Amino acid sequence: MSQTAKEKVIVIGGGIAGLSAGIYALKAGFDAEVYEKNPVVGGECMGWNRKGCHIDNCIHWLTGTDPKTGLWGVWKTVGAIDENTEYANTKKFYTSKVGDREVTLWNDLDKTERELIEESPEDEEEIKKFIQYVRYAEECVIPSIKPLDMMGIRDYIEMGKGMANMPKVMKEYGKINCKQLGERFKSPVIRQMMSDYLPEMYTAYSLLVSYATMTSGNGNIPMKGSLAMSLRIADRFREMGGVIHTCAGVKEIIVKGKKTEGIRLEDGTVVKADHVISAVDTDFLFGRLIDRKYMPKDLAAAYERRDAYPITTGFQIAYSIPSDFSCEDTIFFDIDPITIGTRTFGRISVKNYSYDPSFAPEGKAVLQANLIQSDADYEFWNGLGKEEYAAKKAELTEEITARIVKEFPELEGRIELLDSWSPLTYNRYCNAYHGSYMGFVTTVGNKQMRFKGVVKGIDNLYVAGQWVMSPGGLPIAVVSGKFAVQRILKKQGRSIDI
Ligand SMILES: Cc1cc2nc3c(=O)[nH]c(=O)nc-3n(C[C@H](O)[C@H](O)[C@H](O)COP(=O)(O)OP(=O)(O)OC[C@H]3O[C@@H](n4cnc5c(N)ncnc54)[C@H](O)[C@@H]3O)c2cc1C
Repeated sequence: MSQTAKEKVIVIGGGIAGLSAGIYALKAGFDAEVYEKNPVVGGECMGWNRKGCHIDNCIHWLTGTDPKTGLWGVWKTVGAIDENTEYANTKKFYTSKVGDREVTLWNDLDKTERELIEESPEDEEEIKKFIQYVRYAEECVIPSIKPLDMMGIRDYIEMGKGMANMPKVMKEYGKINCKQLGERFKSPVIRQMMSDYLPEMYTAYSLLVSYATMTSGNGNIPMKGSLAMSLRIADRFREMGGVIHTCAGVKEIIVKGKKTEGIRLEDGTVVKADHVISAVDTDFLFGRLIDRKYMPKDLAAAYERRDAYPITTGFQIAYSIPSDFSCEDTIFFDIDPITIGTRTFGRISVKNYSYDPSFAPEGKAVLQANLIQSDADYEFWNGLGKEEYAAKKAELTEEITARIVKEFPELEGRIELLDSWSPLTYNRYCNAYHGSYMGFVTTVGNKQMRFKGVVKGIDNLYVAGQWVMSPGGLPIAVVSGKFAVQRILKKQGRSIDI
């Protein structure tokens, strides 16, 4: 074994980014250990059991399930999916209902086009344009071979070849937000649909790309859900010789001069390493694990500008319902207004998880409501005392349940609460900034947040995780782990081909 092969990489955080970093570190010939504060790995790619049901709390779509994409190869390498993976047989992105009108974004684009035009013939031109641009957006791929800053002209040309139409999508839908996209339509229900799924201030481009991931077959949902996928990745890491320490919170990254020597755990144990990869939330890294002064300027500016770079979190409720519930997948509908945190909602959605029978006993299914929350909402929840918090959660849960039953009377007396949780849960569980479960949102007129996963002033410390590139999510997490290892290799003058 070569000298380099014996070098040790410590990864802080056992989410998708951390596990990916560990696997790629082993592939590159390093020893690798992951330190995770929780008893279970997976971070935000998580699920848990309540009353005989499984609450699957992450994958609405997994970008990279099309074997033709480079990202598929990354997911396969980390053991998340392979040629034999079974996917949920879901048929749509979501349905929006206004009054007695309903429209759906089907995975089948022709069907969507037909239905939308039937709903609103006067919007035909705008609908056809929208559909055409979703087809263009199907070309969008996430760089997965190497970090953008390591790409040469040839790499860009190669990548550009497959995405020739993406600049058109950017030009047409990158400068308006979802609300403005809706305003292009005359039909009230289509208008509403455009800002139902993503918050109104998100760029319309994000909506098109998200929908295109589904229509292209590149955003399937692996059966058995999010936690099972995280555990498959952890298994792959262990099989390759990696070591995972759970219940091992890291307190500090030990910095001496321009290098890190390793980490200090919450219990005081010091663990030495040749390289450290942080795969925890960047607000926690820069400020708690190392001095805030090391935070890259652009990233620090994004944290300062809460309006320009908002975050996404949620107040969520999970229920057990009968499996014969008439609504499939996700549906948005009007409700009597309710204030959650600082926002008043006139509409909510429910998602039916009946597509995966492993989530509930026979005859049952899991239903979830996710009310999107923001930075200000996080502050609201965080400002409550312990008892006030519990009371608020219970009160809102009851009120939302009543609204769901009002919309779907068939659930009267047949809906059972499993659990409810808030932005504070993500903060407590994952040290997530303001409870965010994605990276910074890109709003119109602001540059997409992106930074190199290196720390100026600490030579052997690298950063992975969803905050490295907006909008975050699982694909960014998994490639960022790989990229962090490639940065080590590059610094050592070795091939980054892993
Ligand atoms: C409701 C919901 C729906 C989502 N839907 C999708 C979707 O459909 N598609 C998609 O792509 N993404 C989705 N996401 C987002 C996705 O889950 C995240 O982007 C991704 O899991 C982030 O991975 P990460 O490794 O960067 O961070 P994290 O998952 O936050 O991992 C960080 C890890 O570090 C650990 N940690 C923190 N502090 C310490 C410490 N001091 N010491 C040791 N360990 C520490 C944490 O416990 C955690 O395990 C969703 C998330 C949620 C919650």
